[in-house]
Amino acid sequence: MFSEIVDFIRSLYDVEESIILHKPVFFGNEKKYLTECVDSSYVSYVGKFVDQFEQMIVEYTGVKYAIAVVNGTAALQIALKVAGVTDNDEVITQALSFIATANAIRHCNASPVFIDIDKETIGMSPESLIDFLSKNTKQINGRCINIHSKRVISGCVPVHVFGHPCRIDEIVEICNKFNIRVVEDAAESLGSFFDSKHTGTFGKLGILSFNGNKTITTGGGGMIITNDKELALKSKHLTTTAKKPHKWEFEHDDLGYNYRMPNINASIGVAQLENIESIIRDKKDTASKYKNFFDNTPIRFICEPERSNSNYWLNSIVFKDREDREKFLEFSNEKGVMCRPVWKLIPMQKIYSSCLTHNIDNAKWLADRIVNLPSGVKINKS
Ligand SMILES: *Cc1c(COP(=O)(O)O)cnc(C)c1O
Repeated sequence: MFSEIVDFIRSLYDVEESIILHKPVFFGNEKKYLTECVDSSYVSYVGKFVDQFEQMIVEYTGVKYAIAVVNGTAALQIALKVAGVTDNDEVITQALSFIATANAIRHCNASPVFIDIDKETIGMSPESLIDFLSKNTKQINGRCINIHSKRVISGCVPVHVFGHPCRIDEIVEICNKFNIRVVEDAAESLGSFFDSKHTGTFGKLGILSFNGNKTITTGGGGMIITNDKELALKSKHLTTTAKKPHKWEFEHDDLGYNYRMPNINASIGVAQLENIESIIRDKKDTASKYKNFFDNTPIRFICEPERSNSNYWLNSIVFKDREDREKFLEFSNEKGVMCRPVWKLIPMQKIYSSCLTHNIDNAKWLADRIVNLPSGVKINKS
């Protein structure tokens, strides 16, 4: 069985060397815009590509405002901050995600509270959320207070894991009821929609990442997206050193950050985004091939959940137990096919081990069994 899987992956990618999880592809105008950017000398803070890239994200996702920043982690930190997360607050998130989700919460001097995921979507479980909130919180002056720690729960960060939309409508509804602001971690889900609406546009704010392994890349980069004008202006202000607009004077009215995406990165982003449709078509094609293959096996291939349209950023399968999973990882990596276990659960990481963790049985179960499969774009016209 293991060798059939590895042979199948080899047949998908048709390369001699080892097959990695993701590899960015550049088959559009990347070099042209990069050259144009260098020739213009506007490689840094200002330049037309940053504005153009933001505008293209606005059009593609259907959101009103987009603010380009240096990476997804910085985007999440600032999104949380403008959403009202302050020192000593608690922010609910899911136990299974990339570490950056929790790091951004900590960067706001707040503490993450880890809850469970849904076995179906791999994203935050609305059942776990309501269970945690109804047992552990009360409302005081329109704020959600943790009755044990007495701290304010100001934010909630659901993640669209592997690009698959979570049950974001239910999560937003619950959080609205409890006066908690939702900031969506859509770092992996550019091109994924829930009820035909782009992920990252349901909460107060959302964030995207353009790291090298993501759906499209700017080398390193991120984006804050929101429909709220005031939060958008605040995000832009904070990420650009909080400088008051003036022709020559340097007056900064807040503790700002140097988080603006450089124009040189945005130039690559514009070229990448021009090809997003074909990139996602390719990813969906890979996913449907994996699905057909695994449908004839006892192994579950993780499919897009109901009501959603996933970008299939990272294809994944679920083994029957940890032992089987470990054996497969040994075998496939030995054969030069890079398969990876899912991230170690965040509350199991040493720096987060003392954080409040609600029942996370589904997350624990899945973390022992998931394998991520090579999911790079097959197109290579360069
Ligand atoms: C990649 C990623 C981030 C962080 O993005 P960077 O651009 O690498 O900082 C945050 N959350 C999730 C779920 C991610 O996959």
